[in-house]
Amino acid sequence: MTTVFGKIIRGELPCDKVFENDRIIAFKDIHPVAPVHLLIVPKKEIVNLQAVKTEDFPLITECLQVVQQLAEEFDIAEGYRLVTNSGSEGGQEVFHLHFHLIGGRRLRHLG
Ligand code: AMP
Repeated sequence: MTTVFGKIIRGELPCDKVFENDRIIAFKDIHPVAPVHLLIVPKKEIVNLQAVKTEDFPLITECLQVVQQLAEEFDIAEGYRLVTNSGSEGGQEVFHLHFHLIGGRRLRHLG
């Protein structure tokens, strides 16, 4: 695990953690774009969504369950945006699969 998220998962870098179990960690983004900006990160080293294999689907489902749970906890269940950037062309900077959970303000239409 060579990415910054790998270091966070291994406990070598601090983070503002909001959830953790054996398979998933979630923490606050250091450069939030909204009042709530969380990153939901499967601990398994998967580069991005495009690299997800069929066997990983239960893990992705669990990530979505964590999204729902955190949306409730952070009081944004009424409306939020879930984003994953896949590949450089998709704006990905950290090459370890993660989902941005963004909310707490009215989000503009995409595009
Ligand atoms: P992406 O462009 O989808 O790869 O997003 C990477 C995200 O990780 C960006 O929103 C960064 O602000 C965030 N980020 C990078 N390093 C850290 C860190 N040490 N702790 C929390 N968030 C981070």
